[in-house]
Amino acid sequence: MTTPFGPSYVRAIAPYIAGKPISEVAREFGLDEAAIVKLASNENPLGMPESALRAMTQAASELGRYPDSNAFELKAALAARYDVPADWITLGNGSNDILEIAAHALVQKGEAIVYAQYSFAVYALATQGIGARAIVVPAVDHGHDLDAMLAAITDDTRLMFVANPNNPTGTFIEGPALEAFLDKVPRHVVVVLDEAYTEYLPQDKRYDAIGWTRRYPNLMVSRTFSKAYGLAGLRVGFAIAQPELTDLLNRLRQPFNVNTLAQAAAIAALNDAEFLEKSATLNAQGYRRLTEAFDTLGLQYVPSYGNFVLVRVGDDADAGNRVNLALLKQGVIVRPVGNYGLPQWLRITIGLPAENEAFIAALEKALA
Ligand SMILES: *Cc1c(COP(=O)(O)O)cnc(C)c1O
Repeated sequence: MTTPFGPSYVRAIAPYIAGKPISEVAREFGLDEAAIVKLASNENPLGMPESALRAMTQAASELGRYPDSNAFELKAALAARYDVPADWITLGNGSNDILEIAAHALVQKGEAIVYAQYSFAVYALATQGIGARAIVVPAVDHGHDLDAMLAAITDDTRLMFVANPNNPTGTFIEGPALEAFLDKVPRHVVVVLDEAYTEYLPQDKRYDAIGWTRRYPNLMVSRTFSKAYGLAGLRVGFAIAQPELTDLLNRLRQPFNVNTLAQAAAIAALNDAEFLEKSATLNAQGYRRLTEAFDTLGLQYVPSYGNFVLVRVGDDADAGNRVNLALLKQGVIVRPVGNYGLPQWLRITIGLPAENEAFIAALEKALA
């Protein structure tokens, strides 16, 4: 027959599976949307900050024009906050965009990208999308094995993705261990350190990866406004690296990849320390409640430093899907992670207290 369209490496991609939208679950299971609890996409259960909504309302009158392609004000705000020059910053349509652009900008077809087993699904997508070779390093205790990742580097490795904390497992690498790792990474390999959940870290676990970019020309730190800042629907993320790297990313990004409303909202959210504080406190409380319930139910979970917990809901290879379906029927949406090779587990985003209670009650029934 005819040759199929597109390169084989694109046809081989398994599309990203997103958390089920509330409206879809309501339709499929005949449920009232208002009664559905969604703990599936690591969104901030507080929603977006009021300050961001006000900023967007004001910016809405400018939507007849293109966004500021260089996002002068947002970059100035980030530069001041993180004490880096504005030309060390690249903005993305979500940090997902940053990860994709980095792969496109730094790696040719056939060259290698190193990342860990059970790390963020987008690393595989970004790798496959350019026809690069994935070197997937087995996880230890569901987290990154940095020594094995170093040992896996080949002459044609151009990029490494490291998520800290990692999604979907919630594992965390201490700052000093990361720094020792960066000391050993050869300079022909760029490390994208993906810190999507860094704002949730307790004070005693914080480390200054952005400060490290001064010392490591091959380090790129990626952050997002989608998680603790509560702006997942707007799509804003950013990367900080030395200008040699940002200049490359800038050549490949779409000129208007961050829209006008998103730029305005991100500035407001960045300056809303109170919202961030409230989000982190709520998350810590919810984490204690969920893990206490897992302990009571005798369920294994991976200690998490993000706004979600990976929990083992059975021993057979269908356990995750089965319990997920039982939860969906009760109007609770969580994330099955069979696509990550974790079919016995579910990833639960930490919600508002009432949402956590609804989930726990539904889980007890699902397991009974
Ligand atoms: C959620 C997430 C991101 C991407 O989020 P964006 O909404 O695209 O900014 C990146 N990395 C990890 C590890 C994540 O969990």
